[in-house]
Amino acid sequence: MSMIAVQSFAAGNWIGPGADAASLHNAFSGALIGHAGGAALDVATMRQHAIATGGPALRAMTFHDRARMLKALAQYLNDRKESLYELSYLTGATRADSWIDIDGGIGTMFVFASKGRREMPDAHVYLDGEVEMLSRKGSFVGQHVCTPLQGVALHINAFNFPVWGMLEKLAPTLLAGVPAIVKPATATGYLTEAAFRMIIESGLLPDGAVQLISGGVGPLLDHLGAQDAVSFTGSADTALRLRGNVNLQRNSVRFAAEQDSLNASVLGPDVGIDDPEFDLFIKEVSTEVTAKAGQKCTAVRRILVPEVMKLAVIDALEARLAAVTLGDPRRDDVQMGALASAAQKADVLEKCAMFAGEARRVIGSDSPLLSGDGLADGAFVAPTIFDCGDPDAATHLHTQEAFGPVACLMGYRDLDHAAQLANRGGGALVTSVITNDGGVAHHLVAASASHHGRLYFNSRESMGESTGHGSPLPHMVHGGPGRAGGSEELGGIRAVKHYMQRTALQGPPSLLSAAGETWLAGSHTHEGPAHPFRRRFHDLQLGETLVTPPRLVSVDDIQAFADFTGDQFYAHTDAVAAAANPFFPGIVAHGYLLLSFAAGMFVEPAPGPVLANTGLNALSFQKPVTPGSKITVSLTVKRKTRRTDEYGEVRWHVDLRDQDGDNVATYELLTMVAI
Ligand code: NAP
Repeated sequence: MSMIAVQSFAAGNWIGPGADAASLHNAFSGALIGHAGGAALDVATMRQHAIATGGPALRAMTFHDRARMLKALAQYLNDRKESLYELSYLTGATRADSWIDIDGGIGTMFVFASKGRREMPDAHVYLDGEVEMLSRKGSFVGQHVCTPLQGVALHINAFNFPVWGMLEKLAPTLLAGVPAIVKPATATGYLTEAAFRMIIESGLLPDGAVQLISGGVGPLLDHLGAQDAVSFTGSADTALRLRGNVNLQRNSVRFAAEQDSLNASVLGPDVGIDDPEFDLFIKEVSTEVTAKAGQKCTAVRRILVPEVMKLAVIDALEARLAAVTLGDPRRDDVQMGALASAAQKADVLEKCAMFAGEARRVIGSDSPLLSGDGLADGAFVAPTIFDCGDPDAATHLHTQEAFGPVACLMGYRDLDHAAQLANRGGGALVTSVITNDGGVAHHLVAASASHHGRLYFNSRESMGESTGHGSPLPHMVHGGPGRAGGSEELGGIRAVKHYMQRTALQGPPSLLSAAGETWLAGSHTHEGPAHPFRRRFHDLQLGETLVTPPRLVSVDDIQAFADFTGDQFYAHTDAVAAAANPFFPGIVAHGYLLLSFAAGMFVEPAPGPVLANTGLNALSFQKPVTPGSKITVSLTVKRKTRRTDEYGEVRWHVDLRDQDGDNVATYELLTMVAI
């Protein structure tokens, strides 16, 4: 195999390793495989290139344009991922481990592409929350909006997930409209570089949208400004050093840290050894110890079980972990590969030596059997379980992360004790709770959720479909308080907002409508040249309104509706009982009758551009409608979102008023309208 020379991609140019490049080694054989870093990069120019070229090009696109770009990019990577799998073996990862990294990363990008189109507008401004009424008559209102930062995002990633680590950060950053400089960990950055190279070769991203630093970042942190953001994943020690950068502090540069975590898994006190939850617990814990050779930030480090269950748990874990074959990750019979480097192995063994002062090793061997040839210099560590007799007295077990296949078993007395032990991690990414008792779930959420970014419950009910203790999902928040870094990643559109500025807009509704690319109630309306249901998607204008003639609501209408639908609720049928109700003066119209009348009043019956009514949001009834009332409906174009080349979604503000001009109902109506 030829030597790998990991390159950087700076201001549109590929730059090879410099004289001081670091050596790279095959994780399972120890052989030299190449070099990375050491080049003198002009990081100030890189930042400027991102800000002057990448940022404006990305911001010229709408959220939907960028979501489509991400989808195409994910598809491009997906079609070429096999070569990444081949390279990934060198990091010590089995094919199953690489699936988490490579397919997991690509899948995350697909999810952001899809959420961007479904949950964000086809616009440049994201509305955050609803309009706030700041005046009695509604002529002065408030609206929060989010817009992309005009700087660059610096992504500093850990060695354990070279592909996922890059893509899970790039997806929300690019969706926000912010260019990025990616700095992978040097030890496995060759795999990141291979995936990054595909991104550049795809030609799908605008110039300057992404750049890559192989090796050190040089003085880049000293150049960052108030519109830039740093998103760091790695050890707590490195995070502490970077947070201390005076320039970052002076400019209040956003600094998000995902760092180490002493995650736990709790076996519920309700679970007996014959329950399905017992096997589930053993399976989840074993998977967490062995997947990626335990080099997952979310891996279970502390196993919390009722004291009386300790022996049974040790026996079951021993049986399961003994069946795990270690060795050459390319072999089909191998379930666990090597750690990513000899340095990583040395670090894990050092932590194990610390743990040995507080607990007894009950599973694991210094010289495990390995499957394959030429592995003597590989970074292998056997699955290792410590048993701690006095978890209250232990300190290292609650404060030191052995970033490898190592976990410690601890007995708890009761649920409060279990929560106390879990919380001694000082803030964690995830704790799992395997239980079939809702009371246990309720107790632990109250006692421990504040110390965790994620609580993962699993039982016989969900075990067939659950995603696993260790999997951060793009939909759900990933991150944790305290030791875990105090930041958040992922969590759907929340992640996109990390790269945007939230701004409170105050002013008259018409100005805020124009600014936010969405019509707000109270702003100007106008009549269109034809019935709006006869107008195509591109012809409809924000604020275009239809006001219907009034319609009488009679007592016969109400009775007929009650008979037809079967809704004979007394407020619509029994005058005496209705009058005794504190909300009604007597018989009132059904709310759904009013909605049905409204539809009858504003629809245009003949086939036309409006293709379907797809939903209704935020319905509220403000005032009861009594027989003899006359209602009028106004229908206003609120927001338009192109969905395909054939049709787009039009959201309408619908407002029903009575003969006194009082509002009786409002809602948002969703329709699909032909382009
Ligand atoms: P690390 O040694 O802290 O390195 C993390 C990143 O920081 C690497 O890219 C590293 O680059 C870079 N770095 C180091 N010093 C730097 C400096 N002075 N300026 C700028 N960048 C610098 O961590 P690691 O060993 O790669 O990763 C293992 C740790 O990451 C574990 O503790 C694990 O729990 C944590 N982790 C957390 C998460 C999470 O989401 N919470 C996910 C994965 C891993 P070089 O490699 O070039 O030094």
